[in-house]
Amino acid sequence: MARIELEGISHSYDSSSKPEDQREYAVSGLDISWPDGSANALLGPSGCGKTTILNIISGLLYPTAGRVRVNGKDVTGLAPRERKIAQVFQFPVVYDSMNVFDNLAFPLRNQKTPEKTVKTKVEETAEVLGLADRLKFRTTGLNAADKQKISLGRSIVREDTAAVLLDEPLTVIDPKFKGELRRKLREVQNRLKKTMIYVTHDQHEALTFADNVTIVKDGRLIQKGSPEELHAQPATPFIGYFIGSPGMNLLDCRLEEDRLEFADFELPIGQGMKKKMASYGKDFKFGIRPEFLDVAAGEKNRAVAFTVAVIEDTGAYRVLTCDRESSRIKTRVTESINIREGDRVWLGFPEDKINLFYNEQRII
Ligand code: ATP
Repeated sequence: MARIELEGISHSYDSSSKPEDQREYAVSGLDISWPDGSANALLGPSGCGKTTILNIISGLLYPTAGRVRVNGKDVTGLAPRERKIAQVFQFPVVYDSMNVFDNLAFPLRNQKTPEKTVKTKVEETAEVLGLADRLKFRTTGLNAADKQKISLGRSIVREDTAAVLLDEPLTVIDPKFKGELRRKLREVQNRLKKTMIYVTHDQHEALTFADNVTIVKDGRLIQKGSPEELHAQPATPFIGYFIGSPGMNLLDCRLEEDRLEFADFELPIGQGMKKKMASYGKDFKFGIRPEFLDVAAGEKNRAVAFTVAVIEDTGAYRVLTCDRESSRIKTRVTESINIREGDRVWLGFPEDKINLFYNEQRII
């Protein structure tokens, strides 16, 4: 079991003799701590530095600056095998010449574990993974999801595995097995309580697996929190948009007297909000989640008229894309209001659901 900490981690792939401040950095100034036994996700768009961070934790990459600690011990100079941190990659790693049992037994036999203990440990691991009835199967006939379970099994079968890093583990899995494998990963983490860090660019995978999500953009940490915190209090407009289905609506607005002025409409605001905003300035980014807008099919006091451009029906809810001159807003409706494309709708903006960002930082 392990607490993992990054302290002032920066990494540049540029090995030229340029001065440090002129190099390009893949990640910079990272201070992150993952508690012992926790389910974590590292989430960010492609190229933001996720794999670089994982490789620094596992020891495959030596950082340009900073320290990696496991349970308080500095492991920055240690080779990967000395860190006891296992890694599961996008592509399942299995030995096709062996059956499932022997694949799972491999790390234990490598350690010269007595065969009796190997049998007990492999059977326990197979039970956790739901592979107990396939131990005698050759791996060639298994689907990628089962092969990925074996990769995970090999990373957890040894008791001394301190933590498991999962690098986009669902990428090559057939869509019809993705959900089951995603739930299995969560279930295994819950049962074994091993520290796990799940890397992905997919918010749904991150939020459903993890209790703590770290968001990285352009090599920097921009927010760390529970899925609820990231959804309710995104630190920046980028996170507001990145988290949520669909993401947060973001519009430019200006504070004037007791109202917010947008390109094509205005909204009255209360004294508390006005006072807080006035202490910053005039120009803000306004955010509201699609599911928090009040949608009415008829005219309504303090609501703004829009025209429905597109309706996307997901089965569980409908997403309406609504236009008003140059402004576009998305909203989600679950109740059976009779709305068609081309209809007018009136959108209400509940004040307690409004997010405001100044200079890219959340202030409300
Ligand atoms: P993806 O989701 O696409 O795998 P990522 O978030 O894992 O991306 P990294 O692979 O860590 O991001 O890459 C971070 C930055 O470092 C990118 O700009 C990438 O081009 C650069 N980079 C990664 N590996 C190398 C390398 N071996 N040599 C040079 N630059 C690299």
